[in-house]
Amino acid sequence: MTYKVLVLKGDGIGPEVVSEAVQVLKVVARRCGVDFNFEEAIVGGAAIDAYGVPLRPETLKLATESDAVLFGAVGGPKWDDPRAAHRPEQALLTLRKELGLYANLRPVKTMKELASASPLKPEVINGTDLLVLRELTGGLYYGKPSERRTTEKGREAVDTCFYTEEEIARAVRLGFELARARRKRLTLVDKANILSTSRLWREVATEISQQNKDVAFETVLVDAMAMHLLQRPKDFDVIVTENMFGDILTDEASLLAGSMGLLPSASLGEELNSAGYRIGLYEPIHGTAPDIAGRDRANPLAAILSAAMMLEYSFGMRAEAEWIENAVAAVLREGYRTPDLASPGAKIVGCKAMGRLVREHLERMEPES
Ligand code: NAD
Repeated sequence: MTYKVLVLKGDGIGPEVVSEAVQVLKVVARRCGVDFNFEEAIVGGAAIDAYGVPLRPETLKLATESDAVLFGAVGGPKWDDPRAAHRPEQALLTLRKELGLYANLRPVKTMKELASASPLKPEVINGTDLLVLRELTGGLYYGKPSERRTTEKGREAVDTCFYTEEEIARAVRLGFELARARRKRLTLVDKANILSTSRLWREVATEISQQNKDVAFETVLVDAMAMHLLQRPKDFDVIVTENMFGDILTDEASLLAGSMGLLPSASLGEELNSAGYRIGLYEPIHGTAPDIAGRDRANPLAAILSAAMMLEYSFGMRAEAEWIENAVAAVLREGYRTPDLASPGAKIVGCKAMGRLVREHLERMEPES
């Protein structure tokens, strides 16, 4: 099988970390009898500099013709002028919208080796293995009207939270599908005691749960969830929630893993690729880290783990994804750390060396089957 992967490295540390992820995928291709046809294009600030726009129509076309997209990060101080006609992040927003990527998946797994990197107590976080599914294309971030006005009483502003039954149902159904392949627990997070949209989420999710009785279903209010995540994160498996609650909770949950440089993500839609799996965009959750860009100090593990998610969700290669996760865990167990995870006694390495260590482990280990 040959799969088309569009590589969009972006700005800052994007090119450094994505290059390591691509090299990992090349090892997978060589050892596992698949072929990746990598196409590359410029996006974000780099594309504004080169072409005057953050995402060219040609690049969007390439994305729609690919089986999956591997993305770095976009943005930086050079393109921060709020009056500018084009901003780097428009590239990502357009890709999400045009590819119909409505579900953002962020797994958070605590590795024993890194428990000390989290500000939370090891006994609370050890064993955490959860997956947050954040609805990505609805809710307050897209509802209309969203505007500022001036009346005779002064300034006022409005944002609108809007969801249709269909938008909710597709996210919740995907949540059940994911939970079924994991520990079979799904938690819906909402604010149903106050918000009409949340009451609709709860109603639709409860109906869908009736057709998925093999998965345990519960609902939790978002304010309580903010607390539970820090008190008993181990109790959760798949968490499904709307756009803004997901935005906030996923940043909170990233604390459980220790560093932003470790957390991958996937954004999935309905459309299937040539492998019969969902087309997805895979990216580390971190940004372009301008403070360390170009200095071989970035942690490439989030990008490498994003490539592993691509294997699992867009190509159905779960065993190979686990093979990469195990290689990452093995390197960390041996004490290697990029500077963001430095601790007493750690063997500090740069971005390139960290990528090479993961590949060396892959060469030594057999893919799980
Ligand atoms: P950031 O994630 O880039 O950096 C926050 C801190 O974490 C910095 O100290 C940085 O050095 C560190 N860090 C992040 N990733 C790291 C890694 N892989 N290895 C080691 N350290 C890492 O967030 P920011 O500073 O708020 O944003 C910088 C730029 O990135 C901004 O222009 C922002 O708009 C953009 N951004 C882009 C995305 C995206 O493209 N998806 C996401 C977030 C931020």
